[in-house]
Amino acid sequence: MSREKVSGRSPDGSAPPYDVVVVGSVNADLVVHVDRRPAPGETVLGSDLAVHPGGKGANQAVAAARLGARVALLGRIGSDANGEFLRRALSGDGVELGHLLETPGPSGVALITVGPDGDNSIIVSPGANGRLSEEDVAGAADLLASARVVSLQLESPAAAVLAAARMAARVVFNLSPPAPVPDELLAMCDPLVVNEHEAEFLLGERGTPERQARALLALGPRSVVVTLGADGAVVAERGSVIAVPSPRVDPVDTTGAGDAFTGALAWRLSKGDDLADAAAFAARVGAASVRRPGAQSSYPRMEEVRAL
Ligand code: ADP
Repeated sequence: MSREKVSGRSPDGSAPPYDVVVVGSVNADLVVHVDRRPAPGETVLGSDLAVHPGGKGANQAVAAARLGARVALLGRIGSDANGEFLRRALSGDGVELGHLLETPGPSGVALITVGPDGDNSIIVSPGANGRLSEEDVAGAADLLASARVVSLQLESPAAAVLAAARMAARVVFNLSPPAPVPDELLAMCDPLVVNEHEAEFLLGERGTPERQARALLALGPRSVVVTLGADGAVVAERGSVIAVPSPRVDPVDTTGAGDAFTGALAWRLSKGDDLADAAAFAARVGAASVRRPGAQSSYPRMEEVRAL
């Protein structure tokens, strides 16, 4: 469906119920700190287990909701205790969960070990996320068509992601974790959001952020955002490449910064900001998020972003 044909309004012409619909993953992040990682066949003792709500889809939804956005999440959780925990966390942040579906079996989990230097090693077990289907997306067609922006990532099956993109008025797509995507999906991105590693994955080569952004635009998306950690982001649209700085902060933990950025970006775009303004706002949200540990636990409210 072309963007022109879809207004992002309810059938009766009233304002849409949601600013952003996120289609994506919901994971429990199981975190243990270790002095060193075990070699094959070896056992090491770690810290107490910490369990945090995570998953790229849920993170984006919470980032936007905490800023005041009206957000709905389409995804799948399992029938286990983690599923209940994840549902409660999302609902506590005001994310609309009428389309959070339940699959018998385990929820998605990320098994995270944090080394002495703060380095993460992560295994993701998709669990219920892996069951999100094109049929699930079709069942949420009204929801998807009513939103001004649909925000997508790749921790869910590619077929479901593509189906959701086809129904969206505007697609914000974060190519994370990086994997090959069809040209059709790339062509619908407005913008494609990538960090430098994801950009390199798509392009097959390194380059300055500006060159990367231009080269990515040549692959077909309507617009591109390359995020650059402490250096902010570069925004590319037809005819323009703009550098967007990030506020200087003392980083404590950068986990989930990209998800915070993308959730905030999707929300500002849904409010009519142009891409450079939305990215400048999102950079402030990303910067605020690295000042505290964790992903969702680090995401700011509007007052904090204003004060940065
Ligand atoms: P990802 O988490 O996907 O690797 P980035 O590291 O590029 O993404 O971070 C996303 C955004 O978060 C950046 O564009 C920036 O605005 C903000 N950010 C991340 N790290 C820092 C930092 N050390 N200082 C300030 N802002 C940061």
